[in-house]
Amino acid sequence: MIKDLRDPFIRFKDVDPYKLFEGLKTPCYVLDKKRLIENGIILKGIQDRTGARILLAQKCFSNYDLYNTLEPYLAGTEASGLYEARLGREEMPNKEVHVFCGAYRRDEIEEVIKYSDHIIFNSLNQLKEYGPLVHKRGKSVGIRINPEKSTQHGPEIYDPCSKGSRLGIPLSTLERDLDDELLSLIDGIHFHTLCQQNSDDLKTTLLEVDKKFSKYFKNIKWMNFGGGHHIVRSDYDIKTLEECIKYAQDKWNVIVYLEPGEGVVLNAGYLLSHVLDRYNNNGYEFIITDTSAACHMPDVVEMPYLPPLYMADLYGASNEVRLGGPTCLAGDNIGTYKFYDIPKKDDLLIFGDMALYTTCKDNTFNGMPLPNIYVLNEDNTFECLTDFGYNDFKYRLGKFKKNW
Ligand SMILES: *Cc1c(COP(=O)(O)O)cnc(C)c1O
Repeated sequence: MIKDLRDPFIRFKDVDPYKLFEGLKTPCYVLDKKRLIENGIILKGIQDRTGARILLAQKCFSNYDLYNTLEPYLAGTEASGLYEARLGREEMPNKEVHVFCGAYRRDEIEEVIKYSDHIIFNSLNQLKEYGPLVHKRGKSVGIRINPEKSTQHGPEIYDPCSKGSRLGIPLSTLERDLDDELLSLIDGIHFHTLCQQNSDDLKTTLLEVDKKFSKYFKNIKWMNFGGGHHIVRSDYDIKTLEECIKYAQDKWNVIVYLEPGEGVVLNAGYLLSHVLDRYNNNGYEFIITDTSAACHMPDVVEMPYLPPLYMADLYGASNEVRLGGPTCLAGDNIGTYKFYDIPKKDDLLIFGDMALYTTCKDNTFNGMPLPNIYVLNEDNTFECLTDFGYNDFKYRLGKFKKNW
């Protein structure tokens, strides 16, 4: 059943996960250090061959206890605002911090600049207001452009090139408002248009950027290709990515940055859960798990997608079961799976590819607990990073004494 090297469960080829995870209280996340390193080696190879620099997008994964593990393979971190910038500076202190934000606050901009090396603006207003200050503090200024070339086929909420998007400055706005003084503030160009995509779509985007915006690139020092590159996926075309990097380097004499999130932590985590109940209603078989899609894997509901589940969806299996969380939300469905043997009450379920957009995005809706976070070391030992409980639910909601 292990399909290829990038199978989410390849780790369990040599070790029985049911034995390995026996006794862990669920729900819990398990972050796979070995897989993180394997991903890191692929990313390091690209950087070594091309001179490009790859950053971790922290909005996807910010379990800083593992930044040490990732640091040798990365040029730094990317942040969505002040807190992530600070986290990147604190936890990967010897590497670069880049920040993009839809709009910066006046009362935070000094602190953002303090933690960051590159500050990327989403409008010419913000460039004008804060660009000179960024330079005065010795940091680099970029703008995010919108090439208006959609290469996505998924839901619009993940497509910054969808019609009416607020993200990135389109060509028409630059042609209308960019004067020489503003242009002289710009050290680098950022675009982010992809989501879980291959390098053919990057190439399409880059050629569009070239066609539309190249006239503004005479003096830029860097170009940031954003995130959404599914680099460590088995069918990802690394050669085309490296050609794109080289194209930009040769044409504009820039340092190229990439800032994937998923592309760093793909398949490097699991979410463990137990079966709480199983029943049949109107001919449908149901399993209620002790994990909630809405709370613990929100992208499953938002995207939506079917998370990989160990020993399910096996070829030829015919027993169909609907898995869902214990919350009151009608839409708290994990998905419909096929099994040879349907799991029973108290059986362990192992969801794969659960390092991305989970631990940094989960919530306590319905009073659901936050799953504890474990690290699975290369030698199959564990470390628990957290000790979540009732207090973590309560303290966010009122006058809770933080004396615990
Ligand atoms: C979301 C985002 C990323 C990371 O995206 P992934 O799909 O996780 O690779 C990088 N840069 C920006 C600006 C983003 O918004």
